[in-house]
Amino acid sequence: MSSTISLTIDGVEVTANPGQTVIQAAMDAGIYIPYLCYWPGMKPYGACRMCLVEVEGQRGTPASCTLPAANGMVVRSATPQIQELREGILELLLSEHPHGCLTCHRSELCGPQDICLRHVRVTDRCVLCPKNERCELKDTVRYVRASMETPLTYAYRNLPVETADPFYDRDYNLCIVCARCVRVCEEVRGDDAIGMVDRAGTVLVGTSRGTSLLESGCEFCGACVDVCPVGALVERRHKWNKAVREVQTTCPHCPVGCQINLQVDARDRVIRGSGVWCEEANRGQLCFKGKFGMEFVSHRSRLTRPLIRRGDVLEEASWDEALDLAAERLGAHRGDAFALLMSPRSTNEEAYVAQRFARAVMGTNNVDLSSDGRPEQVLPLGRILGTMAATGSVQELEDAGCVLVVSSNTTEDHNVAAVPIKKGRRRGTLKLIVVDPREVELTRHADLWLRPHLGTEATLLGGILRAVLDEGLEDGEFLAAGCDGLDGLRDSLAPFALSAVAESTGVAEDQIAQAARWFGEERPGAIVYALDNVPLDQRTPLVETLVNLALVTGNVGRPSSGLFPLRNGANEQGAWDVGCTPALLPGYVPVDDEAVRGRFETAWGVAPPSNPGMASREAIEAMQRGDVKAAVVVGDSSAFSDDALHAMGHLDFLVVQDLFLGDLANVADVVLPLAAPAELDGTYTSLERRVQLVRCTVPPKGESRTSSWALSDLARRMGASGFDDTTPAALMGQIASLAPDYAGITHARLEQGGVQWPCPESDHPGTPRLHADGFGDRRAALSPLQAPRRPAAPPTEFPLLHVPGRVLAAQGAGIEVVRTNGRSAVRRGETVEMHPEDARSLGIVDGDDVALQTPFQRIQGRASLTGRLRGVVGTTALFGELAVDLDASTDPDPMLRVPGLDVAPARVTRTSDG
Ligand code: SF4
Repeated sequence: MSSTISLTIDGVEVTANPGQTVIQAAMDAGIYIPYLCYWPGMKPYGACRMCLVEVEGQRGTPASCTLPAANGMVVRSATPQIQELREGILELLLSEHPHGCLTCHRSELCGPQDICLRHVRVTDRCVLCPKNERCELKDTVRYVRASMETPLTYAYRNLPVETADPFYDRDYNLCIVCARCVRVCEEVRGDDAIGMVDRAGTVLVGTSRGTSLLESGCEFCGACVDVCPVGALVERRHKWNKAVREVQTTCPHCPVGCQINLQVDARDRVIRGSGVWCEEANRGQLCFKGKFGMEFVSHRSRLTRPLIRRGDVLEEASWDEALDLAAERLGAHRGDAFALLMSPRSTNEEAYVAQRFARAVMGTNNVDLSSDGRPEQVLPLGRILGTMAATGSVQELEDAGCVLVVSSNTTEDHNVAAVPIKKGRRRGTLKLIVVDPREVELTRHADLWLRPHLGTEATLLGGILRAVLDEGLEDGEFLAAGCDGLDGLRDSLAPFALSAVAESTGVAEDQIAQAARWFGEERPGAIVYALDNVPLDQRTPLVETLVNLALVTGNVGRPSSGLFPLRNGANEQGAWDVGCTPALLPGYVPVDDEAVRGRFETAWGVAPPSNPGMASREAIEAMQRGDVKAAVVVGDSSAFSDDALHAMGHLDFLVVQDLFLGDLANVADVVLPLAAPAELDGTYTSLERRVQLVRCTVPPKGESRTSSWALSDLARRMGASGFDDTTPAALMGQIASLAPDYAGITHARLEQGGVQWPCPESDHPGTPRLHADGFGDRRAALSPLQAPRRPAAPPTEFPLLHVPGRVLAAQGAGIEVVRTNGRSAVRRGETVEMHPEDARSLGIVDGDDVALQTPFQRIQGRASLTGRLRGVVGTTALFGELAVDLDASTDPDPMLRVPGLDVAPARVTRTSDG
């Protein structure tokens, strides 16, 4: 039986896949059928009736967005009868939609700087609608209007434009009630922040209680803005600016690797971005960072010229002067007295050149990411499975039977990775278990939220693992085929009896057993983890336990299963892949592996040093001690802690290449302007190993340059050879020749879309799932668990732990929206959640006004004695507060510093009776 369907649309024979609708088949074949409520990737809605068609042998005019394609079907989409029906529908739509832009007699003539409807000079054409020339209704009218002759009038709804919420405006006078925005929010994002509501007898879009978006649970992902066909929902910044071109690139804010179309205006400014729906990395979705966080590229305070310190002052200099000085001074600090710290937002090509510069020119392996890279997230994966990366693909999580999210605020930090999880959960096919002491957005969706004492996460997971084995839920076939060490693992689980684990973690026995049952039975299962707030000494045992759990349940290598370490920076995965890490050369070759090191000596003409270098944490300590005397720091220098800034102040010579003049510049000797992610070509590798193009969208600001250009030039000035070809495509060629997993990847190939490594040959399709065929020539070695450790006691000055959380909405919790300068800000009385025993010992009763003090902040609130963990005090902020702060921020790159939810030692005192 044929696996495809053949049908005829408007006289053209087309092929469709079973299950496709007629409109999908037409779109795939390049045949235009007008539509307004349909959106690829969402369920058919069939409300606008614009996509009507006739089918030979059938009565009526079905909507092609709901009509399944069938073999032999003959479809006509533009008969006179259909066109007449469409005209009638359009007349109805336009009877409530301002359409001067459509009916203006000059609409075909009007051009840039022309006189517009209001007789004012405007940038380009219509001043009535911000969706100028991007409007799908306009396209539809132009298509149908061939025979529409009567000029239309319309009834203006006269609704106030909603401009008080962060990031985007809502003008429901322009809404055509296609409900795309409502459906994407509910169906794709799982948020329900908006719905169809009755307003003065008319059904329109709004929040369910008529509140602001801040109160309604909006996560400001902008998906509604992206699908709005008209000007009802538009980004506020550059609202009236018209784009002159659009470039697809990769979001630089986190490692999900969302594909984003950046629009650029005539002044070469990035003015807006939207998700790319046909890309597998994000299937059209973005988050508040990707959607609204690209302003930094065009920010006026960008560095545009090199600076050299003369006395106490940084003065402008030429690139020649700056690089000559750097070459001379760095030449005096070769070897391990030098360290290089790279931004995790650097491209693979930049990271590759940086590690080569450190090793081949400076003679040291002291090269790492400034973000520190949380190596514990992936090192156990390498030891046990043989690869240091996520084993599966993010979008497949939607079809998992169970997802275990451990110590991760996914919705904020890796937002689009949470979308498939929430979709599966909403569909009712996915059990979601969250392990986190904090309340985060996913805990509201969780079937089970386990809140262990901080530092006991590994113990809790050990308890779950033991319960899986005790209940016989292991996958014996999988274990026998590919794993060793089950007996040793069982033996090591003796101290993880449910009762002991419950006592030490604070999580009830029945909850631990339930988690084990769900993860063991509801296959495929996936584990998503970030290690937020997990103490350093507990990270490795925790990840080893997670890998064991995945292996024991057979959840590695199968569709919708696997382990997903959520790294921090956009390209941490890629930076590791290309060797920007102190113990590994490109392709994950240990620096002391004599059998392979020769390959690098041949390629670089210099043997890399064989002693592992210092990771960023150690390098910063060594700067403080004076052991590291010179350094190059590339990008994101504003993210360094005060301690790190202080340590760098001890250096004899410091080169900083960055976008902005930050605190680090105060101690830098040379400051170089860095090209922003939208100003360069290259590649990022996402957390699911997907290598994707970063495309140059706008010219570099001023004299900004990529770090690969700057370090290559510096290398040449220091007498090194082999740094001549700095084009990103050539650098990818070098990477591909040294890292076998990248051997089949070229920039030319990536023009057709991202590729997941391993990709060993040019005709290899890439690898969505690692270990689908086992573990190569090895077997996975289950790792015996370390005995549970008691977490360190908090300092006496701060005897409690403050666990901050954040949720999208908290209806009925005394939220107040205040207006300042036309904008809304959301406030509410803080609730300080305490365990009753802790409160009693402090003389606090329910409802008391209390002050919570940590080393970093003070929070006033009202005590609520609903806490379930002794020694823990919780507060939960609203996501809306974060959105307001980001929107109002004057920081050039506020998305770089989205505040985390860090646990801190605390004390609570009563300030007055409630
Ligand atoms: Fe960018 Fe990450 Fe948000 Fe995607 S999820 S838009 S990659 S910050």
